[in-house]
Amino acid sequence: MIDGMSSLLLRQVRIVPLNGAPAAVPLDVLIEDGFITELSEPSERGGAHRVPTVEGDGRWLIPGLWDAHVHLAQWALAARRLDLSQTSSPEEVLAVVARLARDRAAGGRRPIVGMGHRAGTSSRQVTVAELDAACGAVPVALINADCHHGWLNTAALDALGLPRRDTVVAEAEWFAAYPRVVSGLEGAPTPADYRQVLRAAAARGVAGLVDFEFSAPWRDWAQRWPEGCDLLRIRWSPYPDQLDSVRAAGLSGGASLPGADDRLTVGSLKIISDGSLGTRTAWCYEPYADTGGCGAPNQSAAELAELLTEGKRAGLSVATHAIGDRALDAAVRAYAATGAHGSIEHAQVTTGHAIAAMARLGLTASVQPAHLLDDWPTTDRVWPDRADRCFTLRSLLGHGVRVAFGSDAPVAPLDPWLAIAAAVHRGRPGDEPWHPEQAVTAAEALAASVDGRRIAVGQPGDVALLAFDPLASDAARLRAMRADLTCVAGQVVHSEFSI
Ligand SMILES: [Zn+2]
Repeated sequence: MIDGMSSLLLRQVRIVPLNGAPAAVPLDVLIEDGFITELSEPSERGGAHRVPTVEGDGRWLIPGLWDAHVHLAQWALAARRLDLSQTSSPEEVLAVVARLARDRAAGGRRPIVGMGHRAGTSSRQVTVAELDAACGAVPVALINADCHHGWLNTAALDALGLPRRDTVVAEAEWFAAYPRVVSGLEGAPTPADYRQVLRAAAARGVAGLVDFEFSAPWRDWAQRWPEGCDLLRIRWSPYPDQLDSVRAAGLSGGASLPGADDRLTVGSLKIISDGSLGTRTAWCYEPYADTGGCGAPNQSAAELAELLTEGKRAGLSVATHAIGDRALDAAVRAYAATGAHGSIEHAQVTTGHAIAAMARLGLTASVQPAHLLDDWPTTDRVWPDRADRCFTLRSLLGHGVRVAFGSDAPVAPLDPWLAIAAAVHRGRPGDEPWHPEQAVTAAEALAASVDGRRIAVGQPGDVALLAFDPLASDAARLRAMRADLTCVAGQVVHSEFSI
């Protein structure tokens, strides 16, 4: 961050119209004391304001981007972990892990933590015995791409004090064990790890994110903040196990954390009401075509309502994870019954009834369009009867539901452009679009990625300057978009210019 820069003039920039307005002629945008204070005709000399100046030369200006769903510690660790995202079968995973385990066995048996393989695309269940056979005494924990289960060998189960078994560790047991995987097998991310991922996000034009990390007390962020991790806006969002500490500190929704400014605030209470597609635990009305199960809820209706009420009483909005259609209906009913406000995280399978109720209740659909890139083959195979009700971005917008895009990093990379391109093109560049009737426009996708911000006088000085018009970019260019300049509260957090 560049300290002491309280004013900044962006000369000759074009404001990207996200609300149907015609493309703008170049303007000068002045940011002072953290806010946009002036939009004016380009000044001849640019010298009228004696402030640091960026020559925009017709570049495109958007509000700083937001990622509405991140697990930041896991994303910071992802770079250190064995990347299994390119494997396509359990056999491939075992081959990669066996090779690394042979090296580690010779050098002190340092544990292996891998992530990104997709058990959900495989036609068979994996076993602990085959992982033991591949890697012997080196502790191994392999985190599935959906982060809803881990494939651990016996050495890792023993090291973490988990009961021995021959299956993966899934859902509630996995979420409880996960912090020990980090502390026991790999070590928590350092401030330097956080700074690296925050800088990379800023380079993509990101100004803020919602952090849903598990077992992450607010004190961790308050401590990290002055250690150079104060680059972006962060909404720290507690799970129920953190509620007591929130109340004890006198914090409520939107409040700044002790010792921080209004860029580090308290977000929503996070509740996980069902599982995932990849682990076959998302709660649905109809069975999965391969397992025959319907998934399961994590709470009874009464327990879910009680959690929402607790959040409401603590002065927090509530973010409820619901992926299956039955979980979504149950979550919507719980909001209606309790009067809690907030968001549905994922809403991956919708019903017309749930969409109408979300619009009526003012609930935000916090969705991750980039997941469709990885999930559509599995969806077509195990949810063929409901594929047309998955990632229903067009239907949500059409019914007036507020939509917010996120990545769920590390499930998908922390890159809003990947989500925007997936939402617009319903596939990778060159793909036949998957259910194109649910595609949205680039302007709609961008509007879902800026946390309701606009480029206007009085708005916070959170902006990103782009070399290309995002509304006139093809799929490949949208995906590859980077910011030439990113500001948060008027402070430059990323720049390709010498200012
Ligand atoms: Zn998540």
